[in-house]
Amino acid sequence: MNKKSFLFVANWKMVLTAQQSMNYCQEHISDMTKLSEATGNSIVLCPSFPMIGAVNYLTIDTPITLGAQSCSSFAPGAYTGEVSAISLAEFGCKYCIVGHSERRHYCHETDEDIARKVRHCLLAGMAPILCIGEVEDEAIVIKTASILDEQLSLLSDYVIDLGINETRTIWIAYEPVWAIGTGRLPDSHYLHEIYDMLEPIVSKRVPQGFTIRYLYGGSLTEENIESITNIGTIDGFLVGGSSLDFQKFKNMISLCV
Ligand code: PEP
Repeated sequence: MNKKSFLFVANWKMVLTAQQSMNYCQEHISDMTKLSEATGNSIVLCPSFPMIGAVNYLTIDTPITLGAQSCSSFAPGAYTGEVSAISLAEFGCKYCIVGHSERRHYCHETDEDIARKVRHCLLAGMAPILCIGEVEDEAIVIKTASILDEQLSLLSDYVIDLGINETRTIWIAYEPVWAIGTGRLPDSHYLHEIYDMLEPIVSKRVPQGFTIRYLYGGSLTEENIESITNIGTIDGFLVGGSSLDFQKFKNMISLCV
């Protein structure tokens, strides 16, 4: 049987400074390249906006790809302080995280804003990484299912008219909010059930013709990642804290072979 390849998305949030982001790339690009080639896993780096150009420059001609942490929900226009999806794509971003729980919480992004962002990413040629997840740690699968369904409820309205020439891949990142940055990984039985029920929800909410891929994110470490790699639906991981320390990130990627 062929080995599964995973996508590892490093979300550096606003933690790494400009200088630290450059140092990270300069110091580790050769290791990252070897790691990606040796494991077959793909690596996406998501620096903060001002570093997009520099990280693009430092990763050009390598297998490492670039992603953004967010984009505007508007098309280019008079929106001071916003960054359009198209500019990010012009700077080499192939992926864009949208709807991260920190943006839903601190920036009050709504499901509608997020659905618009998905649209702009696709129009710009980037694959959106759409984050969904419940806030409370209740581990009630049926309740979580209805929260995830609600978070996806407007998606179809904003992507249904897109033509077949637009990007057609959407990554859905299930990130229980209570697991982000807390050191608490959901129980693997719960996660199995969540991914089982997520597929029918997503196929109801996303029009036909799109390719859907699934990520998991929330307190992943080199110690716990192996416990969830056997969940067949999971195609990769969104990694916050553990991506900041390259050795930890490397160990995680090396374990997924
Ligand atoms: C995240 O913020 O998307 C995330 C997964 O963070 P952490 O890995 O630190 O929990």
